[in-house]
Amino acid sequence: MTSVPDLAEPVAGWRVWDLAETREGPLLVSPLRPVFWPPRRPMTATCSRGCAPSPSLPCRCGLYAMDELPRLHRESRGQGRVVGCTALWGRVVEHAHGFRAQFAYPLLLFLLPAGRPGVSQRLLRRRPLPDVGYGLPAATEVSSASPAEPARRLKQHYGVPVVVPSGSPADGYFPDDRLAGAVAAEAVRGLAGRREGDHTAHARFADAVEDLVGRRW
Ligand SMILES: [Zn+2]
Repeated sequence: MTSVPDLAEPVAGWRVWDLAETREGPLLVSPLRPVFWPPRRPMTATCSRGCAPSPSLPCRCGLYAMDELPRLHRESRGQGRVVGCTALWGRVVEHAHGFRAQFAYPLLLFLLPAGRPGVSQRLLRRRPLPDVGYGLPAATEVSSASPAEPARRLKQHYGVPVVVPSGSPADGYFPDDRLAGAVAAEAVRGLAGRREGDHTAHARFADAVEDLVGRRW
């Protein structure tokens, strides 16, 4: 398909993950299929029906993310241990409320209170996940009751900010999920600056996240 744009600049979307534990550190897992997102390498879409590259317009393959956090909360019914903003690039198919992308890597993660497991998390309770081709060790459920330690290790493993929000609003992830739009915009806008150590870009990002979670992090 030539009508799928190939984006040089990433767009930002919102999605959820489950969390698996390995000897080498915690891993993000797609909540609907037990597939790992590799640390410090772009996640690359694959297609069981053979799209090359994935995604293609008529298929349903690709790495999914939604455009708005309130919609993600509604449609995922709040399931998933981790919610976050991810960069999407390469071939990106835009839908009414989100995207399917060829490449993705998280920009910012929130480790949610326990008790919001997705499908993969429930699988992990029964058996370890096998390595699925990234050379990663078998994974089991993250069992720690306190999120602070898994959050620290998640941050170290993936090299991205990990925030543990306080509280658990009934109707969203945060007191006002609509403020996530500013976080997503800044996550992409300031990406190059943050990588180069630009303090202003870091401060703008921190301010947007602080507005969303309601405190300094
Ligand atoms: Zn496909």
